[in-house]
Amino acid sequence: MTTNTSNLDTEIVVLGGGPGGYTAAFRAADLGKKVVLVERYPVIGGVCLNVGCIPSKALLHIAQVLHETEEFEQYGITFNKPKIDLDKVRAWKASVTKTLNDGLAGLVKQRKITLVHGVGKFTSANTLSVEGDSGTTTVNFQQAIIAAGSHPTKIPAFPYDDPRLMDSTDALELKSIPKKLLIVGGGIIGLEMATVYHALGSEISVVELMDQIIPGCDKDLIRPLHNRIKKQYKNIWLETKVSSIAAEKKGLTVTFEGKDAPISETFDAVLVAVGRQPNGKSIDAGKAGINVDEHGFIPVDKQQRTNIAHIFAIGDVVGNPMLAHKAVHEGKVAAEVAAGHKAAFDALTIPSVAYTDPEVAWMGLTENQAKQQGIDYDKAAFPWAASGRSLSIGRKEGMTKIITDKATGRILGAGMVGTNAGELIAEAVLALEMGADADDIGLTIHPHPTLSETFAFAAEMITGTITDIYVKKN
Ligand code: NAD
Repeated sequence: MTTNTSNLDTEIVVLGGGPGGYTAAFRAADLGKKVVLVERYPVIGGVCLNVGCIPSKALLHIAQVLHETEEFEQYGITFNKPKIDLDKVRAWKASVTKTLNDGLAGLVKQRKITLVHGVGKFTSANTLSVEGDSGTTTVNFQQAIIAAGSHPTKIPAFPYDDPRLMDSTDALELKSIPKKLLIVGGGIIGLEMATVYHALGSEISVVELMDQIIPGCDKDLIRPLHNRIKKQYKNIWLETKVSSIAAEKKGLTVTFEGKDAPISETFDAVLVAVGRQPNGKSIDAGKAGINVDEHGFIPVDKQQRTNIAHIFAIGDVVGNPMLAHKAVHEGKVAAEVAAGHKAAFDALTIPSVAYTDPEVAWMGLTENQAKQQGIDYDKAAFPWAASGRSLSIGRKEGMTKIITDKATGRILGAGMVGTNAGELIAEAVLALEMGADADDIGLTIHPHPTLSETFAFAAEMITGTITDIYVKKN
């Protein structure tokens, strides 16, 4: 067999074609740079587009419709029991990602970016070697942007060679609908996939190490989600972890330890979603002199520069939170700095969203953080049970919470739980970035009837001008 070798010279090489990487490549090209983009998989888009955010949202949309049609019975509309054709569901999900893959491939071409498929590793501070199916490409670069992402955390003792033990990528493949599914990790991936598999008919159990699901979020925002899913799921075990999983013919037999630990149980499948690890250790960063910490993160400054001044890093590989929208923002900063512009990462907040049902979204300071930091704050929580729009879509468990600085009235943080919370949180992010106070938000006319009004109502609870509910004066 002959191995092809080739050489490319470029101004900027971007290692990794996920949302952070392709954004950095596109921005750098738009700023006039000659760019090579390196991606190990046949398509660009990374975890987010191919095996993460986008396919999960396609499946969550199906889950939502399945739930809604069931719940419509109480409003006098009855649908037949749905028939699920898994092949078609998979094909639809694949068509969504393919449309976006094709769109990205077009954008690469329009920008005249050279796309090299293969696994890229540094061989020096100015060269990257890319091993692809058709041979090795050496990329000689002036500057590099590392966007190498992350991979799911594995628990070493688990039997990963058994296909019934899944990570998020396996779960999104939707090979079958297990009768009994255990989800290890009550974080965002675990709960989003629980929503999907429950809608498709699995009996769900969730085991979470901490004392609440989605531990990073305030408890009051999580409560409506917890209360709803505890009625839908078989078990939610908190402060509990899995101590062993034995692969047996009848299923995966799991033993637990901790506060809620049940006696061992057998499941048809287990999804492990206990976080992700950065890929900093798998790119031979040391050969370029780049520092990588013990966890695999690559430390960067506010301009996304690593310790090697002409090499930048962005996205999951530089730190938490591992979110596509953070990577995209960092990608633009890195490309702009590399192109000689004055840019830096100075966003005030990175919003978080769990696309569960109800959705949970939060940004800025959480109330827990405000307490821990000894900040003097005001807080208001508007119940969606008093929102005409929420009631008219048959939901009343939602809540919009806002935290403001007691001295200045400025917004410090906000959180929402309820239908479309993930869309609504963007207004709070803008308010924070613009330095809005409770008056600014309350005096902004929001369209009626919308869920967005609840953000203004929460602000009005702080300013004392709310009329939609009665708040007793002290
Ligand atoms: P996560 O950190 O959100 O949640 C992992 C959960 O597992 C935590 O609640 C943790 O306490 C728990 N846990 C850890 N070890 C455990 C153990 N041994 N037993 C039981 N529970 C255990 O991680 P994730 O859900 O795997 O998601 C990974 C990353 O992907 C996160 O950074 C997340 O933000 C991101 N992501 C984001 C979205 C979104 O924005 N909607 C969707 C999916 C994933």
